[in-house]
Parts: sequence; C-alpha cells; structure tokens
Amino acid sequence: MFLRQDTRPVKVGNLTIGGSNEVIIQSMCTTKTADVEATVAEILRLEEAGCQIVRVTVNNEEAAAAIKEIKKRIHIPLVADIHFNHKLALLAIENGIDKVRINPGNIGRREKVEAVVKACKEKGIPIRIGVNAGSLEQHLLDKYGYPTPEAMVESALYHIGILEELDFHDIIVSLKASDVPMAIAAYTKAAEIIKYPLHLGITEAGTLFTGTVKSAAGMGALLSAGIGSTMRISLSADPVEEVKVARELLKTFGLITNAATLISCPTCGRLDIDLFSIANEVEDYIAKLKVPIKVSVLGCAVNGPGEAKEADIGIAGARGEGLLFRYGKMIRKVPEAEMVNELKKEIDIIVKAYEET
Ligand code: SF4
Repeated sequence: MFLRQDTRPVKVGNLTIGGSNEVIIQSMCTTKTADVEATVAEILRLEEAGCQIVRVTVNNEEAAAAIKEIKKRIHIPLVADIHFNHKLALLAIENGIDKVRINPGNIGRREKVEAVVKACKEKGIPIRIGVNAGSLEQHLLDKYGYPTPEAMVESALYHIGILEELDFHDIIVSLKASDVPMAIAAYTKAAEIIKYPLHLGITEAGTLFTGTVKSAAGMGALLSAGIGSTMRISLSADPVEEVKVARELLKTFGLITNAATLISCPTCGRLDIDLFSIANEVEDYIAKLKVPIKVSVLGCAVNGPGEAKEADIGIAGARGEGLLFRYGKMIRKVPEAEMVNELKKEIDIIVKAYEET
C-alpha cells in the first residue's frame, strides 16, 4: 500500500471516504433518472462489477422523486448530481439521497445555500464540491485569464469557504480537467492544502481506449503519490467499463484487496496455444471475483512457469496441451480443448478455500 494522504473521514451512506480507508470506486448512470426500471437495472450491473457508490443526474423534479424508489432497490450509496437548483437538492435529500454533488457558490442567494446545508446537516449527508476546468467562475477566469491548476484550487477553496462559514465540514472535493497535466497539478496542489477527501477524475477523457489511457496516466500519477480517496473513470462507454478500469488501476498500485489479477504474456514465436482468446475468456471469468488471487495465462512452457511463479494458479501452453501450475509448480497436464475449463475449476477451488478462511 502507498502512504495515503491524511484527510478527514467523510461518511457516505454505510461507507467512509477518506481517513485510512481504501480508495472507493464510483460511477455514474447513463439512464434518465426518472426511468426507475432502467436506472435500477444499470446500478445493479454496476454493483456486480464492483462499483461502490453511484451517481445519478437530478435535473428535474421527476428525477428527484425517483430517488425514493431507486434507493429501495439498490445496495450502494446513491449520489445526486445537481447544478444550481437548490430545490432539487432539497427534494433529493428528502427522498433519501446519500450525498449531494453541488457547488454552493452556484446555488445563488445565501438563504438557498443555508437551506441545503441545514438539510444535509440534519440527515448527515455530505456535499461534493465539483470543480471543473471547463466551468470555472468568471471572476477566476478574469483573474487568471484561462483555466489553470491555481484557478481550480482557488475555486475549490471558494466553495469550501462558503460551507465552512456555515459550520459544514462533511465535504469531498473534485478538481476535474480533461487536460491530464492540469488535473495532476490541480489535485497535487489541492492535496497539500485541502484537508477534505479528494475525488479523482479526468473528465471527458474519451472512449474506452483513449479514456482508459488518459485516466490511467492521470490518476496513476496521483494514486502513486498517495493522493485520492475516491475515484471515477469517465468514459464514453458502458459505465460498467468505468468500474472495470478503476478496479484494474487500483490493483496496479496494490490499493484494492478484493480483486483478482490476470498475468498474461504478450506472446512470441514460442507460442503454442491460442493465447489471446484464452486470456480474454479468463479475464472475463475473474473480473467479478472479490478475492485477491493471481491467475496467469502463458503461451509456452519454456518461460511460462518462471513468469507465473507469483501466481496462485496458471496455465502454460504446450503443443496440443496445457500445463497447469499452482504457485509455480506443475500439478497436471490437460488437453488444449479442456485447458480453460480446467483452469476455471482450479480457480473456483482456490476462491472457495479463500472464502472459507
Ligand atoms: Fe513467448 Fe512463452 Fe514468454 Fe509467452 S511465455 S512471451 S510464448 S516465451
């Protein structure tokens, strides 16, 4: 584990963001929130993939009203994404939302801000301040000329100041930009001076491919420095992919304890099996496992066992057959056609033993 930055622990439903807790994975629904059936179905898919907190847009009264029913049918904390409209925030709070994403400086008159803060305080609901490089306040654009990391941090401090003045401290802060170096600089600066948990994100990162690379670059740099208490990968793709990418990224840094890892070789001229399709099938199989096992899939028996030493279970191709390895030692040979099924059986045995301990 990397040394986490000390932040104030903030409760969101039954979870705590910040403090010494693991980085929490979030995603956002793509459905119309008022369409309860579609929204619940998407959230249940996200839960299965490992999403721990989910956000929905609350852009009208129907969406705010739907929160009550959605909450009854899901198992993870629900966040309302609200822009400007304090009435929608109050309705969402009344209907049982677990967290509100709203910028207090954009709500308008002081009484409106006070009403939202009072309602949040009464129900123990935190507020996420979402600074976005693309929508900085005009006074900051006038001061800095264009979005900069300093302007983003100043924007966060401005909104934090409003909440602190009302003695409200259950705050989470994000400073998103689609420009990766700008986001890294903003979060790094914020981590030095803001004591609240930081929600990491590279906004409008792009498609599954480009967005994954950009997010991994930006958030990887931050996570490796111990920055970030929760994160959302933003992709122009099925949100389940966001969760898969987030889990993989956290695994890379040893920041998740309930995920299985795949080790697979890049293949070379020694390859003896159809490794790409086998690796993909095994990756799908282990994606939903909630235990920290390592599975390796290697193309040949020459380097395979050595490369798979760290794995709990693995397979290496040999002509027409596969060699099953456990902790680097061969346990048996299986015909090529049965390799994947045999590997899955071995994975199931290890998972069962893990769950029983
Ligand atoms: Fe090549 Fe074998 Fe190494 Fe895969 S495990 S890269 S096939 S030598």
